[in-house]
Amino acid sequence: MPAFDLRTMLLMSSVMPGLTALVMFSLGRSFPTNIRGVRNWASGALIISMAAILLALRGGIPDWLSIMGGNCGLILSTGLWLIGSQRFFGRPPSGRFVILVLVMGAIGESWMTWAHPSAGGRSLWINAILALMYGRQAFVMLRYGRHDPSAVFVGAMFLILAMVTVVRVVTSIDAGFAERGIFASDFVQTVYLATGALMSLLTTVGFMLVAMNRLRVQLEQQSLADPLTGLLNRRAFLNAHGQERDKMMRTGGLLSLLLIDLDHFKAINDTYGHVKGDEILIDFSMRAAGILTRHHHFSRWGGEEFTALVIGARPEDVFELADALRLKIARNDNPSLPAYTCSIGIACSVSGDATIERLLKDADEALYRAKRSGRNSVEVSDHAVLV
Ligand code: GH3
Ligand code: MG
Ligand code: MG
Repeated sequence: MPAFDLRTMLLMSSVMPGLTALVMFSLGRSFPTNIRGVRNWASGALIISMAAILLALRGGIPDWLSIMGGNCGLILSTGLWLIGSQRFFGRPPSGRFVILVLVMGAIGESWMTWAHPSAGGRSLWINAILALMYGRQAFVMLRYGRHDPSAVFVGAMFLILAMVTVVRVVTSIDAGFAERGIFASDFVQTVYLATGALMSLLTTVGFMLVAMNRLRVQLEQQSLADPLTGLLNRRAFLNAHGQERDKMMRTGGLLSLLLIDLDHFKAINDTYGHVKGDEILIDFSMRAAGILTRHHHFSRWGGEEFTALVIGARPEDVFELADALRLKIARNDNPSLPAYTCSIGIACSVSGDATIERLLKDADEALYRAKRSGRNSVEVSDHAVLV
């Protein structure tokens, strides 16, 4: 075997998780509260870093400190990681299981250090526990984080760790282990320690990537959503229109814009209060969502105005859709809210010819006519299909 200095490798490998832990702690403080588990991951990384130092100092510090501190530290860190991952993915944390495993680990290690000293037995015991913890961690990551490549990466790392640790468990049964000790340069021990050192580095960096990715997705979603109704906001609608228009320019076809405005909303606010007004906006977005879907890029344009796109439908079908929406809203089937209605203006463009400004201007002109005609009605722009 190459003359790896396993002790140095172990010491060096403790540095990265320790540093990553500090970065994770400071990041975790500025994370939104709905991203949970990051602190558990950071604590686990800090503890594994200290455990690796204790193990690496074997021979230089009292054996009981190196063995008990190092091994219990390893179990505790895997437990914290497991709890962190479960909380991160909104699963119930296995706190009791972790305590049980920690107690079992400590009892086994003490027994085989003082009562019946056996290095092979200790290795078997600790690695069996670690393999179980790594396996559970891999399961949580691969199952609940399967849509996130960084979580799949971390899960795969833990799976490799679990497999290498199982090999170590099997080879611990070998009677010669006791004489060789933890820094023996035999093949299995070198692979085991090298894998452990590399993985503790990769997994802690991986945890940070998983957390950062969640934050990125969340911020992206927030920047495109209307906080009151949960619908797309104006920015998202403009993005969607740009994409649909580009598509229409290539493929041709009709693109229609619906501009929907609640009737006499100021009077509703004045009569029932702003809070009831907000409830009506939410009620409208939910009831309209039965007819308009994400497929229509149904959005809150601002205030009590909403927009939607209908792609590739004939003008009469677009009118029918808008009128079905108007009727549904006017039906007033929510007894906890006052009755309200909406008016809708429709504008169309062929092959993506019209800009969004032009479509909005046309739809607004049609909406104005709908209001003038007594509200609770649908009007189509004169420019429709002529552009
Ligand atoms: P019209 O039938 O002509 O559309 O009359 P209107 O009263 O609906 O029109 P106007 O544009 O004058 O009033 C819109 C009102 O919508 C004014 C504003 O107070 C209210 N509003 C805008 N945003 C919100 C909101 O987020 N919550 C609540 N409760 N009211 C809002
Ligand atoms: Mg308005
Ligand atoms: Mg209005």
